[in-house]
Amino acid sequence: MKRKLVFATNNAHKLEEISAMLNDKVELLSLKDIHCHVDIPETADTLEGNALLKAQYICEHYNMDCFADDTGLEVEALNGAPGVYSARYAGEEGHDSEANMKRLLEELKNEENRKARFRTIIALILNGEVYKFEGIVKGHILREKKGMTGFGYDPLFVPEGYIESFAELGEEIKNQISHRAQAVQKLVKFLQEKT
Ligand code: IMP
Repeated sequence: MKRKLVFATNNAHKLEEISAMLNDKVELLSLKDIHCHVDIPETADTLEGNALLKAQYICEHYNMDCFADDTGLEVEALNGAPGVYSARYAGEEGHDSEANMKRLLEELKNEENRKARFRTIIALILNGEVYKFEGIVKGHILREKKGMTGFGYDPLFVPEGYIESFAELGEEIKNQISHRAQAVQKLVKFLQEKT
């Protein structure tokens, strides 16, 4: 029998990416699939805390095995900001990428140290046990936007070993090297060993 596992997201793209990597012993379900329509509060002040909050919510309310992710851009010269607040860096409404990038460029206007990294945490709760998986990609922040693909801060972020931004490299390369890909690969390996 297939093991049912909830991914606490409604992002169809993320769901598809992970489904494709999992073996056929796992049936991956989205929040929509389990009829969970609440916006699970992300009130923690760390990526780990928020990923765990989301996974715990599903465990408690639906009594199902579950995992959740949270990602942030951590800029060295800004002491790790915007970090857990990456989605709402330019304002509480959040998810305004243009405004977020504008603020980032403004904050780094006179800064020579452009080092930054994307960090993803996945929190998994399996049979009541908590497991965490981390993916990091190091790089630097450009002085102006470059490239058209991707989302979020992609036009400003150049991963180590490349000269193009994530938005110029495109999805195929990004999906091989990204923070999220690395965390997902660790999760998938763990699940394959467990199932
Ligand atoms: P989430 O936890 O995946 O929703 O990511 C939180 C925020 O981090 C997003 O709203 C984006 O601003 C930023 N972010 C996450 N992943 C990426 C990425 O791969 N490229 C650019 N920005 C990202």
